[in-house]
Amino acid sequence: MQRTNRRLTAIVTMLALVLLAVAGPTVAETADALRAKYVFLFIGDGMGEAQREIGRRLMVAQAQAEGKTLTEAKLRMDRLPVRGLMTTHSANSKVTDSAAAGTALACGVTTNNGMIGMTPDGRAVRTIGEIIRDAGFHVGILSSVSIDHATPASFYAHQKSRNSYADIILQLPASDFQYFGGGGARGWSETKDKLARQAWQAGYRRFDVTGELLASLPPAQKIWAQAEELHAGAAMPYDLDRRATQPTLAGFTQSAIQRLDGENGFFIMVEGGKIDWACHANDIATCATDVLALDAAIGQAMDFYAKHPDETLIIVTADHETGGLKLKDKADATALLGQTVSADVFAAQVARLRDEKANFADALPVVGKYMGLTDLSEDERRQLSDAFDASVAAGKRDKGLYGSYDPLTITCTKIIAARADAEWGSFGHTAQAVPLTAIGAAAETFKGDLDNVDVPARILKAMDIKVQLPAAMPAAPARPAPAPESDESATQKKAA
Ligand SMILES: [Zn+2]
Repeated sequence: MQRTNRRLTAIVTMLALVLLAVAGPTVAETADALRAKYVFLFIGDGMGEAQREIGRRLMVAQAQAEGKTLTEAKLRMDRLPVRGLMTTHSANSKVTDSAAAGTALACGVTTNNGMIGMTPDGRAVRTIGEIIRDAGFHVGILSSVSIDHATPASFYAHQKSRNSYADIILQLPASDFQYFGGGGARGWSETKDKLARQAWQAGYRRFDVTGELLASLPPAQKIWAQAEELHAGAAMPYDLDRRATQPTLAGFTQSAIQRLDGENGFFIMVEGGKIDWACHANDIATCATDVLALDAAIGQAMDFYAKHPDETLIIVTADHETGGLKLKDKADATALLGQTVSADVFAAQVARLRDEKANFADALPVVGKYMGLTDLSEDERRQLSDAFDASVAAGKRDKGLYGSYDPLTITCTKIIAARADAEWGSFGHTAQAVPLTAIGAAAETFKGDLDNVDVPARILKAMDIKVQLPAAMPAAPARPAPAPESDESATQKKAA
């Protein structure tokens, strides 16, 4: 009996081993095929379906104007095969802001508007940037707005208010992420000495870059690069206002890929942050141009994907829609081609006209030169004339008509939108669900209906990182904090 049992056991064990040997590699192969080693998350701030579509139409109009034939009249972001539709509400509002939306996308938690990396009751939660870093991957955070702005901050900071720029930026060095790039820091001037010292102690090299310098940054373990010339809010210029020598979001993306590519794998978040700002200002040409600038950055990720198709995951989405943009029947972006500067830059021209006490006749050539508005219809002329009066006149302005913007500027951009058969519904964010497109390893998991909190959880799953979201912060710091410098040495350094 015993002998039979032993033989049986031996046979069963052997069978099991054979089965394991057969099943083993299959299981492992499936896991490998699913695992994303290189992950890109592109966030077009304020970029709903209509913003993507007007970007596409501008691309077509630009090609036509240059006599080019497009092989594919689709944006790169809309060529990605997997499509999802994402809801964006926050904990305290149907209409989210970029802080709550960024926190949802970075931490997998629905929080209140204005909060960064925290639950509504103020508990800090881990961001996927921190989780992915702890799993041994490299991390890069890029944005065309300041790096302490709500969306990028959501990936490394934990603050009750998105407006605490100084507190936010002071959390950057401790993130230990390998690459920060794009805009500057709004909290920089307040924290300059302390922050520069902290960043230096944490091993960061800071660079103010031109387009040329960006392509050849000296070697460094950890890089914090910002565009040399910054516009309002310490952001990069709108792509429409950018001079050829200035760095692009695509340039920063390429630079981050070069720096982070390697055996560790990486996670890179790229935000097209000023799409939102242009939408707030109902500035359709500037919005469409910044959508194309984000699409060019996606092109860099696509080139990388072509070399590593089995291990790369690219996701493109938005944090929310801004402006309630509607494209109507005959929407055509040809009308956008005449605008050569953003509404921001044009508003400075209007301020100059005001200072010079110019009259409406003086203003018209300026409107023609910068906004491309010539051959005015009677109605357009009347709208511009009323707006000019409101611009020049001090005192109360019609908020419903002009928002908080310069009346002549906003009227120009509204006329351009109308000529393109498009219409803005508001100056703010909307509750619309936003599109998500994806390609690559585990991309299928982003298909269909989803909420913004699902995105980071699915990214971790794609990367085979087993952390449940939302994840509590570790009780002790993950790594020893940099040794505090004594006052004496700080003084010496200052003197030196
Ligand atoms: Zn916004």
